Amino acid sequence: MEQAIETKKGVEALLQKRPLIISGPCSAETEDQVVQTATRLAATGKVDILRAGIWKPRTRPGSFEGIGTKGLPWLQQARKESGLPVAIEVATAKQVEDALHFGVDVLWIGARTTVNPFSVQDVADALKGADVPVLIKNPINPDLELWIGAVERVANAGIKNIGLIHRGFSSYGNTEYRNAPMWHLAIEMKRRNPGMLMINDPSHICGRRDILLDVAQKAIDLDFDGLIIESHIDPDNAWSDAKQQVTPERLGEMIGSIVWRTEEIDSEELHAVMEKMRQQINQLDDELLQLIGQRMKVADKIGEYKKDNNITILQTNRWNAILARAYERGEKLGLSQEFITKYFDAVHMESINHQNKIMNS
Ligand code: PEP
Ligand code: MN
Repeated sequence: MEQAIETKKGVEALLQKRPLIISGPCSAETEDQVVQTATRLAATGKVDILRAGIWKPRTRPGSFEGIGTKGLPWLQQARKESGLPVAIEVATAKQVEDALHFGVDVLWIGARTTVNPFSVQDVADALKGADVPVLIKNPINPDLELWIGAVERVANAGIKNIGLIHRGFSSYGNTEYRNAPMWHLAIEMKRRNPGMLMINDPSHICGRRDILLDVAQKAIDLDFDGLIIESHIDPDNAWSDAKQQVTPERLGEMIGSIVWRTEEIDSEELHAVMEKMRQQINQLDDELLQLIGQRMKVADKIGEYKKDNNITILQTNRWNAILARAYERGEKLGLSQEFITKYFDAVHMESINHQNKIMNS
């Protein structure tokens, strides 16, 4: 009992560590695989917590759905041999009970669970009275309220130590990512939960190992508190998520090559320089807003004119011409096509809304 309490305190302190690095296999497959991964990860000296999936929610049936409860003693063994505390995903009340029974140190709620308030509530109810940190992954769909709702349900169950995992959002069609990062959503979640641990999961964002490091570095540059990255002793033959896993040694190298940055600005001089540039940014933002306001005033006038002459608001040719012109100019200014598209979509929509109001007034 003494021992268990000691460990709990240790884990809580551990979650304060920055950067916090969690790694381990997508799924626990065999005892030997789990123990070997853990000891090899520990040997890199770069990892704080071992992860392993015991129950695997797969999108479609027929793939490996996890070893189940019989893998929990393997994690105990892995912890004993590596010294790393262990984290697993829980999706049902029974899984929470089993995990707590086997002394799992940290739990996480997966993306396919966060999406469903019934499931989250079920897990939260089972967590009542437990003293265990819980990390909550973003839901698979880009809905911030669902993510916040899950945090509230777990907090209402009395869990004090809650962290967030950004694992990207599913979108239709092929992109370079398995799950689009949609960084702005993670940033907004961070803004709404100041002080709450926020780590990034490059593995499930990328779905492939060659771009893991880029995404990991980007997360660190955005002031994330740490990373959860899948690793396996034989990645290509992993029973789940084979393409995105790396060996423990490669994981160690990757973590070693990340440039760590800090949000704190400690020297006075640095502070002054930053402040000056920030004022410039504020000034430019003010001017941009002024200009956009003026642009909308012209749009209002065009709206009146279109109304008087019974012309439609949207004229596809004109819209294509605006975009083509903007891409060309944007490129010269070092602005990406993606940004130009998003910016003009937003401005165009605002302009349509203005004209719509005028036409129907
Ligand atoms: C996982 O971490 O292995 C997992 C299933 O992740 P997610 O819930 O993000 O899909
Ligand atoms: Mn996985």
